[in-house]
Amino acid sequence: MTKEKMRIKRLDPAFRARERAYDKVYHKKQWADPVFQEKTRQYKRSKYESDPAYRAAVLARNNKWNVSEKGRNAARVREHRRREMEGQASLTHDDWKMILDFQEYRCVKCWRSFQEAGRPERDHIVSVVDGGTLTITNTQALCRSCNSSKHSSSIDYRDATQRSFCAWMAGEAEMVSVED
Ligand SMILES: [Zn+2]
Repeated sequence: MTKEKMRIKRLDPAFRARERAYDKVYHKKQWADPVFQEKTRQYKRSKYESDPAYRAAVLARNNKWNVSEKGRNAARVREHRRREMEGQASLTHDDWKMILDFQEYRCVKCWRSFQEAGRPERDHIVSVVDGGTLTITNTQALCRSCNSSKHSSSIDYRDATQRSFCAWMAGEAEMVSVED
């Protein structure tokens, strides 16, 4: 195809859309290939090391990303995951079900049913930032809005009975009946 023909073709929106769709598939395929990924990584690394202008551009882009809202959120999520991996996240599916059963499938703070309030969320009572891990004694079920208003503070919304039940489930205490 001559350059002129190509230029005319490109003026056609349908042609451009097809071309974009093709590119998308092609790039997706390429990025799924580990050999391509590794080659690209190596190329970028060596360019980073040998080309000061490229390095400056990368650093500038990273700095911009790190201070952006999305970038800060991504960092927060990464940090959260890392801390969670370090602690023993030992809450089993059964533990979680037991907590939900105990709370009668209601948010422990606002006591709305999860049917009404939406999917229950696993909340660290002692927050991750304070070194809390996802265990049966450190987990309460909150609705989304209560969980997000709690932020990363450590607040125990459970009553004494639930606390004692969880400690008992974890084998940390005898089951005692507590008057509220
Ligand atoms: Zn709630």
